[in-house]
Amino acid sequence: MLRLDGVSVRFGERAVVDDVDLEVAEHEIVCVLGPSGSGKSTLLRAVAGLQPVSAGRVTLGGADQAGVPVHRRGVGLMFQDHQLFPHRDVGGNVAFGLRMRGGGRGSHDAQVAELLELVGLPGAQDRAVASLSGGEQQRVALARALAPSPRLLMLDEPLGQLDRGLRERLVVELQGLFTRLGTTVLAVTHDQGEAFALADRVVVMRDGRVAQAGTPLEVWQRPASEFVARFLGFEN
Ligand code: ATP
Ligand code: MG
Repeated sequence: MLRLDGVSVRFGERAVVDDVDLEVAEHEIVCVLGPSGSGKSTLLRAVAGLQPVSAGRVTLGGADQAGVPVHRRGVGLMFQDHQLFPHRDVGGNVAFGLRMRGGGRGSHDAQVAELLELVGLPGAQDRAVASLSGGEQQRVALARALAPSPRLLMLDEPLGQLDRGLRERLVVELQGLFTRLGTTVLAVTHDQGEAFALADRVVVMRDGRVAQAGTPLEVWQRPASEFVARFLGFEN
């Protein structure tokens, strides 16, 4: 469904994403892991079309995405700082996601209710964003990202600001939700526990390159390099 062939993103002389090959199959959950600065977010932004690639090719559903703007790529995005619209209530935020699908400005009440139910916030439509806890806000951001039924959902540190207990609970919920919906997911995290709980496959990045890709079990049992072993061992 998603395919990257030799994708590089350069800022000046420096390749922040360096010749990355990657495939994500339909319904697959792939987690990108790696230290801070290894190029994870830049990779996601390149797939979304928010960051031009310097070399290589991004293909979605068999179609080359060169020159295709972000709103035409059919991807859903959720960033670490989830950026809800503070002046809109919860329902307004989710409805915004629905309009991204091109459904016009009409009433989306039924779909908004359904999405809020899905993320475990039934009946929260009229609540002010500021009255929600951090975890609740991330659920709303997730509902908004899921609203346009994206063919690929991309999450950048989706649970970044939450405490460990809540993260662990939400990760299990998310995994169940994505499996149930058959969502294809490319997620970024620097938390290996989270990646291993969520992913069918993990990709470990180092300095813009793929250090290793495989199932969580493969990577855990046979780290491809000392870097991967050390990264897995020292995190947490
Ligand atoms: P983190 O885990 O801290 O979020 P990351 O793996 O997501 O890190 P990126 O945000 O992709 O890392 O950044 C990779 C490197 O590219 C960093 O050193 C960053 O400073 C650099 N970088 C990112 N965007 C730009 C830009 N627009 N111009 C110059 N350098 C950039
Ligand atoms: Mg990042």
